[in-house]
Amino acid sequence: KDVSEESLRSPICCIMGHVDAGKTKLLDRIRGTNLQEGEAGGITQQIGATYFPAENIRERTKEIISHVDHAKLKVPGLLVIDTPGHESFSKLRSHGSDLCDIAILVVDIMHGLERQTIESLNLLKMRNTDFIVALNKVDRLYGWKTCRHTQMKEAIEQQSKDVRNEFRMRLDQIITQFKEQGLNTDLYYSKGNIRERYSIVPTSAITGEGIPELLWLILAQWTRKNKVEKPTYSDQVQVEVVEGLGTTIDVVLVNGVLHGGDRIVVCGKQGPIVTTIRSLLTPHPMKELRVEGTYLHHKEIKAVQGIKITAQGLEHASTATGLYVVRPQDDLEEIEEKAMEDHMKSVMSRSTEKSGGEGVCVQASTLGSSEALLDFLKTPEVNIPVS
Ligand code: GDP
Ligand code: MG
Repeated sequence: KDVSEESLRSPICCIMGHVDAGKTKLLDRIRGTNLQEGEAGGITQQIGATYFPAENIRERTKEIISHVDHAKLKVPGLLVIDTPGHESFSKLRSHGSDLCDIAILVVDIMHGLERQTIESLNLLKMRNTDFIVALNKVDRLYGWKTCRHTQMKEAIEQQSKDVRNEFRMRLDQIITQFKEQGLNTDLYYSKGNIRERYSIVPTSAITGEGIPELLWLILAQWTRKNKVEKPTYSDQVQVEVVEGLGTTIDVVLVNGVLHGGDRIVVCGKQGPIVTTIRSLLTPHPMKELRVEGTYLHHKEIKAVQGIKITAQGLEHASTATGLYVVRPQDDLEEIEEKAMEDHMKSVMSRSTEKSGGEGVCVQASTLGSSEALLDFLKTPEVNIPVS
């Protein structure tokens, strides 16, 4: 199949960083500022995620980023996962590998790198995930003057000398802290080879400054990467079970197309679950996610999207595993095996994530019970290490 522009898939982006760095606020702002411009912009609220068409991001950024060729962004859009933090990042796995293509690492400019920033960094390094640093809360620099509709570079130049000095000093400290973690970082607009460093975008989740640049940079970086690596389009449907909810599952459709009536295999705690998609749902535009009866039904859904699937027998579906579509020519048994393999990998990766080699040895008769046991041992009240 010819890999055309539409078949380049949208990157999936997670938000990470230390508590109080501004992850939630930044997410709100990313969603809010864009939503104010109306649904015409094509932004859709999805299950656990927000989808931004590239057109919308181009629209938002062209007034402030005018020196680049916006047509170069050859991706359909960007899917931002709405749950910030380590956990969602770790859960977003499929076939034992990661779904998160790129992350926003939020650092509070007043605090620099903190414990969870470093934890996030280690996860990103371990998984070899690309990221962009949002150096957040620039508005807290003493005397900062908000400059809307201005590129961050100019906004900084327009500050008083004291503010510029404080900014530079804090930035330099943070770049040094990243160096201590073995990472080369620099301001997104500074000269030098962008392939050899991670970009830092100063932002304010309160004023919205820097956010268009952040979104644009994510798409630009992804496009660049897609040029050198092979595009990720595939006919095979891969989805991620994010959360089990009654007889529905929330998934991120990464590749391909899902149809109502498709026969699917998901991994269950007592073995593979073979079922048929009853409905494919996304939230109604502009409605509260949790309000009932506000879902839009779809005949088919194309990647990348966050969706809710209803089907029979999903009660025991396991989270953080893959979902497979069974086509007429496929061997069901083979697919069932693959689905369970995913589960095994996912359980193993979760159980070994925190263990330092010392701890109790866990044995169980089914994957489901071993998973439950491992989760139990991890709860803060129990907190028993697993070897
Ligand atoms: P999270 O724990 O990383 O999700 O952080 P939150 O988004 O909950 O933000 C923590 C606190 O910092 C809240 O009181 C926010 O209002 C505040 N905050 C977040 N971003 C900014 C920012 O850019 N500027 C300022 N001044 N405050 C911010
Ligand atoms: Mg938060």
